[in-house]
Amino acid sequence: MKICATIADARAACFDLRSGGKRLGLVPTMGALHAGHLSLVRAAKAQCDVVAVSIFVNPTQFAPSEDLAKYPRTFESDRAALEKEGVDLIFAPAVEEMYRPDETTWVTVAELSEKLDGQSRPGHFRGVTTVVSKLFHIIQPDRAFFGQKDAAQLAVIRRMVRDQNFPVEIVGCPIVREADGLAMSSRNVYLNKEERARALVLPNSLQRVEDAFRHGQQDAAQLRALGMEVVAREPSVRLDYFEIVDPNTLDPVETISRLTLVAVAAYVGATRLIDNVLLAP
Ligand code: AMP
Repeated sequence: MKICATIADARAACFDLRSGGKRLGLVPTMGALHAGHLSLVRAAKAQCDVVAVSIFVNPTQFAPSEDLAKYPRTFESDRAALEKEGVDLIFAPAVEEMYRPDETTWVTVAELSEKLDGQSRPGHFRGVTTVVSKLFHIIQPDRAFFGQKDAAQLAVIRRMVRDQNFPVEIVGCPIVREADGLAMSSRNVYLNKEERARALVLPNSLQRVEDAFRHGQQDAAQLRALGMEVVAREPSVRLDYFEIVDPNTLDPVETISRLTLVAVAAYVGATRLIDNVLLAP
């Protein structure tokens, strides 16, 4: 497994990896890898000939008030886990390698980037699309793998790729959960024991909505009210949003008549968690 810290090295290594027409898969991450990340790596291994994983805690997607400085960084164990999975290349650049001090170019998906997490975290998706665009130009993957966990991010990246004609296929992968239902996240390490227990209102609220939908409820307002009621039962959890939307446009829907995204974000203590489920009629 090759580890590249510079853009020039990564470009040269990816050129070699693609030799003979091999299909290259990319899994972009911020490190602190868990089984959710590794499921993306396995999907990439299954669907591509060679696999690159980027590890980069991207400062431009964090607001000044957010957790950039304390974001978990566990490079040694990430490296070991990726080696075990048979990854071909890790691209782990320093911030100074990815961004010039006088850089002024942004890649922005207008409007879509202001919805769901984009509304709660102004500028977040602009940072995501800018860094993912850079990664696509550097690594030049045939396919890139993203988690359904970050459903709004997936929608924004699909739109960027479509609008900008990137020659890359975006593959969305299912959410990997802990045994009790909590979606795996690098941020779960911030939760203390009580918060970890309270965090279950997120998956439980989605489960409530899914159950009602399975029993025939198709009205989005009714379903949303049921989900929000579950979150409200845990007064120490502060709801950020609970939305029922089209998974591509992120616009609210009134009735569940086609594939629909139910997405929740909430603060458990100081930690902002997100989760979602797709409803298919
Ligand atoms: P991050 O390191 O948090 O930026 O995540 C890197 C990639 O892993 C993103 O595409 C995430 O959507 C994905 N991911 C994070 N958590 C999970 C999970 N629990 N299940 C599946 N994919 C995930």
